[in-house]
Amino acid sequence: MPTGGGKSLCYQLPALLMEGLVIVVSPLIALMEDQVRQARQMGISAGYLNSAQSVQDYARTIREIRKGTLKLLYLAPERLQKPETTNLIENAMVSLVAIDEAHCVSQWGHNFRPDYLQLGMFKERFPDIPLIALTATANDLTRNEILEKLNISGAKTFITGFDRPNIYYQIQQKKDPRQQLAGFLRNRHGQSGIVYCLSRKKTDQTADWLGSQGYDALPYHAGMEAEDRQVNQRRFLEEEGIIIVATIAFGMGIDKPDVRFVAHLDLPKSIEAYYQETGRAGRDGEPADAWMTYGLQDVLLLRRMVLQNQDEQQIRIEQHKLNSMLAFCELTECRRKILLKYFGEESVDHCGHCDNCVVPKPTFDGTVVVQKLLSTIFRTGQRFGVKYIIDVLLGKEDERISRFGHDRLSVYGLGKEMNVNEWRSVIRQTVVRGLVEVDVGGYGGLKLLPSCRALLRGEESIDLNKDMTQTPAKVPGRVAIENLDYDEVLFEGLKRLRTTIASENKLAPYMVFHDSTLKEMAAFKPADKKALLTVNGVGEVKLQRFGDRFLEVLTGGDLDNKS
Ligand code: ZN
Repeated sequence: MPTGGGKSLCYQLPALLMEGLVIVVSPLIALMEDQVRQARQMGISAGYLNSAQSVQDYARTIREIRKGTLKLLYLAPERLQKPETTNLIENAMVSLVAIDEAHCVSQWGHNFRPDYLQLGMFKERFPDIPLIALTATANDLTRNEILEKLNISGAKTFITGFDRPNIYYQIQQKKDPRQQLAGFLRNRHGQSGIVYCLSRKKTDQTADWLGSQGYDALPYHAGMEAEDRQVNQRRFLEEEGIIIVATIAFGMGIDKPDVRFVAHLDLPKSIEAYYQETGRAGRDGEPADAWMTYGLQDVLLLRRMVLQNQDEQQIRIEQHKLNSMLAFCELTECRRKILLKYFGEESVDHCGHCDNCVVPKPTFDGTVVVQKLLSTIFRTGQRFGVKYIIDVLLGKEDERISRFGHDRLSVYGLGKEMNVNEWRSVIRQTVVRGLVEVDVGGYGGLKLLPSCRALLRGEESIDLNKDMTQTPAKVPGRVAIENLDYDEVLFEGLKRLRTTIASENKLAPYMVFHDSTLKEMAAFKPADKKALLTVNGVGEVKLQRFGDRFLEVLTGGDLDNKS
């Protein structure tokens, strides 16, 4: 089920409907407190057990389990193996066990967690307790591995589809990433978003730089003190308009519905990672953006990281994943189509809601320029890197070039019809297509691969993408999301009340009501509790707690409600 598709309902509903206790196994210790708070907010008696909680907290949860008052219990996977936990399960009436983020059990998945492998023992030990596994990212290989490792190979599989129609996908060639990011963010002041970087250092620097540009940007990475990380995560969840600049250490299980964009300054390692990271945008169903820049350096860096693996098979798996990701970036087809195909899902040819659909990329016959490139690599001895090869093609005067006598080669100055960036793009495309290899273990020298022979001999031709830096950031009006005609002044008034209530109750604003709920209120202006209950997102529990105060604003009470 895609992110935001209602996975948690799959265990929350049983918790409410069935007698006894529902156990949720989740790797997200840092978020358990939030998940429990949210469940309680909806009127479900919930608690958690993990290594990070206080002794009092732990004792209270155990008491509630023994009394049978707890309905929903979150557990870290390593807890489930402790004898005291298995005792607890034996003695409590457990109605269901849900394994969340189940792709962590799979080596094909992108978040493999060794402690998840132990969960296979669960079905052996408690064969009568129903078990479900949930994930937002799993292609068929991962799905099979989940069934096998959890010992539930006969289980039914339910797939709801991976499409996130409200997300607009776009990918740009990397030229000046900061300026490109600035361009993307220009009309996004006040929006919540995530910017992903590969390294801790870049995360810090980018957050500082965004701060200097007037954005509320906070860093998040594994090198920070746990406490600082926690503070930044909390601010991102609870305040409005915060941009979190993070490594991939951030985000699994982040359940913030109003993240308006996810920007990647570096290439993710796999399509699954890309899908999961971009899937954190727009969970409320409102329009959201997935934006990325990538370039040749990203490809080289990730190839090098793949080769650092010890295990041969793991290297093959990772290489395959990286290649799929690169193809996703380079292909000129509809991005959504490629993305869904990767997860085994058919879709329309043109979604009309990605850069390739909105601004089709022009291609050109690149046979001659690729031949020039390949000859230059060959004639200079297959040991020079990207910069040197381009300098030779452009006929640049350079001490090294003349020392090696490469200014006397016939290819010297043969590529002046294109500039440096265009040549970089050609090289990147030949690397991605497997014509040229970069010696990533050594000094980055370019080498020819056997598949380029036919091209060199003129027996094959090749089409290349013309890279364009500027694709329109946003084309309005493509999403068929309800375009509610709502009262904007009233909406702002409702938002102010939401902020007040949120801070009184130490909740994030969206835990009170989502933006979409407030918009619906501002459109239909319900005048009593019965009418308010018909608005999406208003249930009995929230009606009891906040109904009167929202009605006061809706029926023309003080719009600056501060009470
Ligand atoms: Zn498309």
